[in-house]
Amino acid sequence: MNPHPNYPLLFTPLDLGFTRLKNRVLMGSMHTGLEEVENSFERLAAYFTERARGGVGMIITGGVPPNEEAGFGAKLSTPEEAAQHRLVTDAVHAADPEVKICMQILHMGALAPNPNCVAPSAVKSRIAPFTPRELDAEGIEKQLADFVNCARMAQQAGYDGVEIIGSAGYLLSTFLVQRTNLRTDEWGGSFENRMRLSVEVVRRVRAAVGANFILIFRISAMDMLEGGLARDEILQLAKAVEAAGISIISTHFCWHEAPVPTVATMVPRAAFTGVTGRLRAALSVPLITSNRINMPSVAEAVLARGDADLVSMARPMLADPELVRKAQQGREDEINTCIACNQACLDHTFGGNKQVSCLVNPRACNETLLNYLPTAQPKKIAVVGAGPAGLSFATVAAQRGHHVTLFDAADSIGGQFNLAKRIPGKEEFHETLRYYTRMIEVHGITLRLKTRVDAALLKSMAFDEVVVATGIEPRQPQLDGFDHPKVIGYIDAILGRRPVGKRVAIMGAGGIGFDVAELISHAGPSAALDRATFAREWGIDFENHPRGGVTGVVPQAAKSERSVYLMQRKTGPVGKGLGRSTGWTHRLTLGRRGVQMLNGVEYLKVDDAGLHTLINGQPRLFEVDTVIVCAGQLPLRVLHDELLQQGAASQLIGGAFEAGELDAKRAIDQGSRLAASI
Ligand code: FAD
Ligand code: NAP
Ligand code: SF4
Repeated sequence: MNPHPNYPLLFTPLDLGFTRLKNRVLMGSMHTGLEEVENSFERLAAYFTERARGGVGMIITGGVPPNEEAGFGAKLSTPEEAAQHRLVTDAVHAADPEVKICMQILHMGALAPNPNCVAPSAVKSRIAPFTPRELDAEGIEKQLADFVNCARMAQQAGYDGVEIIGSAGYLLSTFLVQRTNLRTDEWGGSFENRMRLSVEVVRRVRAAVGANFILIFRISAMDMLEGGLARDEILQLAKAVEAAGISIISTHFCWHEAPVPTVATMVPRAAFTGVTGRLRAALSVPLITSNRINMPSVAEAVLARGDADLVSMARPMLADPELVRKAQQGREDEINTCIACNQACLDHTFGGNKQVSCLVNPRACNETLLNYLPTAQPKKIAVVGAGPAGLSFATVAAQRGHHVTLFDAADSIGGQFNLAKRIPGKEEFHETLRYYTRMIEVHGITLRLKTRVDAALLKSMAFDEVVVATGIEPRQPQLDGFDHPKVIGYIDAILGRRPVGKRVAIMGAGGIGFDVAELISHAGPSAALDRATFAREWGIDFENHPRGGVTGVVPQAAKSERSVYLMQRKTGPVGKGLGRSTGWTHRLTLGRRGVQMLNGVEYLKVDDAGLHTLINGQPRLFEVDTVIVCAGQLPLRVLHDELLQQGAASQLIGGAFEAGELDAKRAIDQGSRLAASI
């Protein structure tokens, strides 16, 4: 077989001796919340099947606990439970018999949200709700037996293999490091003792499932926290699990409680794969690498550097189930790229275990509920506003066979995404704009830019339906001196249309206030585009790989040349409303740059002296050159109101529908759902 012209390595099969993976891309394990919903196995089957059809070589399911104390909700320990999984494995194998599906066995240990959780020692994790019970020798034997039983049940359920997670702060990893393993028996103390449980799990599972079953061990190749594993310990463990019968080692980076971002949008693409590469050089089994590999070109480059044998793409498979097939067919410009925002995936998992989906693809995990079927009655539809809401509507409606004309007053599509993409760390937003630009071509949407639409224009063109996606206008607080020249709006500040001085007050600390603070306090290259800057800002030492991978020195970002005050009226913590998985990174970064965050601020007036306020009832003057207003948004409904006055019907979506708590997740979701039903 000739190598693929663009991705010669990505599409080279991998021979595991007893079986073969058809290419080098696997869908990494993600907990989706589908595991706990009604009809969970039907929905999981549809979700995985779509990814199998999309060309991925191997799928790893979300983690399944081997017993009750290992997690919460679903588990796999009985033949009855195994029978339910058959729905998933049969569906995937029927979709493509060449695709392998492995089940992840997840023992959460001290991180289990379960009062009966267990661990090597009674050490509570900073991020866990319960102090775990210390396992005695008998308890350890029980956990071992449960791992083995779970693997057997997975085999019975038709899986091609299992992945055992030995990283992230879950049970096996807490045995590995001294900070959580205080034992003095044969399971604690020396590293040989501390890794005994991981090795024993692998050895016993291999003995139970036989030679022809894929066994993956997920190792923490850099814990990203002080007191984590040393480099030689990681190698020792990798060699030991290799000798114990593992088929593939998957590298993972960081414990969940580590104070370092490893998957958020400010992390450079493929930032960690070099760590896998070093390990790979010392081992014989194939290695998987991961984290922020979101396009096939990035994956191919990782393989070309020799960093890994296989590339794991998890969130990118939520964003676009057809990613691999599109790469194979030379349609990379049609890939809906994961922008690493975490807003509909990890933020849902960590924010009260809500069901996962994807900001750029609301169908993710809704495969049985949200479908874009061809229409029997094509309509002539006008969409006014080419922001995320209008774009998602137009794309789905045109895909279904409607005749869509998309208008925007601006000279390019994207709406507020054209502001977002200018913020350091949000460079991935360019990909979404590239995707929609291509979708407009693919689905034959008529695009009319630089066209401010009014009711007369719409009437003259006689549309069957009008969708108003005109977005928002910035809120302008009533304030003495609001018309002072030093007061500017966030749009002017981001686009550089008005100068920003050295001393700045930002009025409003929502998502946009934080982004503006990031933009104006930033110096040098964006960490998202420069691995050395990223490593310095987060205290990571990729080259020397000290214990845990971190330097232990409190990371210092370059202090901002500006004095920046980020203010809100509320008395709660500043940045409380930011995303669960990313908010802390923004607060830390800005704090390290010297940005001062203030709550409980009452704005009085702006004059030549600066911004006059009351804080806790005390007057305080901020002698600033510029006040940037980021005080929220209001719906822009001029067109909608005009249409209403004329008795013409229209449908509102996105910011034009409701500006409060609007974000792109809601805008794209609303646009897609309306288009699916029209
Ligand atoms: P908009 O994006 O505002 O688009 C409306 C469009 O309508 C505009 O292009 C406008 O030109 C056009 N229009 C208006 N009137 C007319 C007319 N009469 N005729 C023709 N065209 C018209 N959200 C997130 O989820 N995550 C983020 O990380 C994020 N970061 C952001 C960063 C910044 C700096 C900003 C400003 C916003 C960010 N957002 C983010 C918010 C997100 O961009 C918005 O929620 C989203 O763009 C709203 O989509 P929309 O389609 O409703 O409106
Ligand atoms: P926002 O998140 O609602 O924040 C508005 C800010 O303005 C708040 O700090 C609010 O706090 C303040 N404010 C409200 N009314 C005010 C008034 N009359 N006078 C002075 N201050 C006032 O809105 P946003 O920052 O404009 O962002 C718009 C949308 O884009 C948001 O929904 C956000 O989710 C989304 N977005 C998301 C991201 C992301 O990274 N996920 C980034 C950017 C934007 P006080 O009332 O306490 O002063
Ligand atoms: Fe990627 Fe954001 Fe979608 Fe999650 S929600 S898969 S991070 S694009």
